[in-house]
This record gives sequence, C-alpha cells and structure tokens, in this order.
Amino acid sequence: MELKVGMYVITNDRMKIGKIKGFCTCEMCEKRGFYEPIIDGDIIITDYDKSRGFHGYKFYDNPIDLIELGDYVNGYLVTGFNYQYSSNKKVVFSNVRLDGTGIKIPAKDIKSIVTKEQFESMKYEVK
Ligand SMILES: [Zn+2]
Repeated sequence: MELKVGMYVITNDRMKIGKIKGFCTCEMCEKRGFYEPIIDGDIIITDYDKSRGFHGYKFYDNPIDLIELGDYVNGYLVTGFNYQYSSNKKVVFSNVRLDGTGIKIPAKDIKSIVTKEQFESMKYEVK
C-alpha cells in the first residue's frame, strides 16, 4: 500500500490518531528508500513498519471510517451510523431514539474524535 498526504492513520490499539501532512526528504530517508511520513498526533512510521506491511496501523481517506460505536465525535457518544438518503453518505448518530431523532454528524462536520480506548485510558476511577 502507498501512503499519501491527507490520509488518516490510527494505531491498532486505537490510542493514537493522526493525519499524514507530508513526507520527509532527508538523506537518511533517501538512503533507506523510504520517505518517512510526517504525521501529527504523535505517530511515527518508519521503514521498519513498512517492512512489516504497516501492520500496526490502519489508514483511511475519511476519518468517519475509523470511528466505531462507543467512540466520541465532537464530544458526542457514537451510538450508531446511518446513510443520508439524499447523498448516501455515512453519518455518525448519537442518542438515536426510536422516532429517529438524535444528533446526526455528517463526515464533513467531524471536528474531533476520542476513541473509546482513549476515553478508558484517560478516566480517573473514583474509589
Ligand atoms: Zn527523513
């Protein structure tokens, strides 16, 4: 697979998410034959990762595709997904009720994502 600018990256443990901003062009990368992607979100992908088929990561063109039930989008708990009838585009649902009401977040309106794994790791358990 080929990494491209603009791709979203998530680690398999879903603890880190980032976006490929560009590629390093230093001599070391040239020597190794792999131009390391410059990724925000504290993710570093090396030629070693490439040699392992990037197996610790998943890549997506649209961040909506890395979201799972129980994650948080724009601060809302994700309770479902649906497709807009008009455009057939996937949307994130929160607090969906039987009458179909609730919060619907189209892909273009996604501003922030907290995975359920990140949420679990951040919480302080009161004992
Ligand atoms: Zn480099």
